[in-house]
Amino acid sequence: MSVSVTLLGTGSPLPSPDRAGPATLVRAGEATVLVDCGRGVVMRLAAAGVVPIGLSAVLLTHLHSDHITDLNDVVTTHWVMTAEPVPLRIVGPPGTRQVVEAVLAMLTFDQRYRIAHHDDLGYPPAVEVVEVGPGDAFDVAGASVTVHETDHRPVTPTVGYRIERDGLVAAVAGDTVPCAGLDDLCAGADLYVQTVIRADLVRQLPNRRIQDICDYHSTVEQAAETAERAGVRTLVLTHYVPPIAPGAEEEWRALAASRFGGEVVVGPDLTTATAG
Ligand SMILES: [Zn+2]
Ligand SMILES: [Zn+2]
Repeated sequence: MSVSVTLLGTGSPLPSPDRAGPATLVRAGEATVLVDCGRGVVMRLAAAGVVPIGLSAVLLTHLHSDHITDLNDVVTTHWVMTAEPVPLRIVGPPGTRQVVEAVLAMLTFDQRYRIAHHDDLGYPPAVEVVEVGPGDAFDVAGASVTVHETDHRPVTPTVGYRIERDGLVAAVAGDTVPCAGLDDLCAGADLYVQTVIRADLVRQLPNRRIQDICDYHSTVEQAAETAERAGVRTLVLTHYVPPIAPGAEEEWRALAASRFGGEVVVGPDLTTATAG
């Protein structure tokens, strides 16, 4: 048994030719879990050998557009690749139901076209939405998942997911600054995935709107300090802001390693880290 995380998208909200938007695949036994649905997620899933019908659940950390922009593609691809109505389980903080209903509404014309065209497709996409909050726990294909509060204010609510199978833990946080809920989320985790910014680089950018992002994201150093404090084994950094300059991955890794004694993973899309 092992638990793994694959970075499906390591990019930021700004477009990149080679980094998709934030999304992470967690595999834990029979459970294949997608956390967030950033730009290009279905392409990256395919590259990881997973099609949407292979997903046990989709978990959303928060409803910022860069984390949900391709949810519609997951929903539609799941729908057209199933031979019968199979619900796609979508779990997220309060507001998720409204977002999913709006996505389905956006796809009304497409659904009408496809149902009219295919005799064997007489039903609209099946989704099962579950809204969760801190302290909630549920099971996904034999893996246990707990929900933890994170701090991305003024964006609220935001959560992270701790996915455990046979004593192995993958903790996946979305955008957040260090906080008690985040410490709980990743306490003793084998793998801790954290979205990060390089505040030292962002502050040099002559753009007020970009400067604002320093308020509500963990810096590389803060993610490393959280990992150290929580006794994490492997820290996996993602959602790089600004994009990592060519050849600079080692610099990012070293910055984290200056605050954290465990393994640090930094890499391109489809980088995988495994425990167990
Ligand atoms: Zn966000
Ligand atoms: Zn984000």
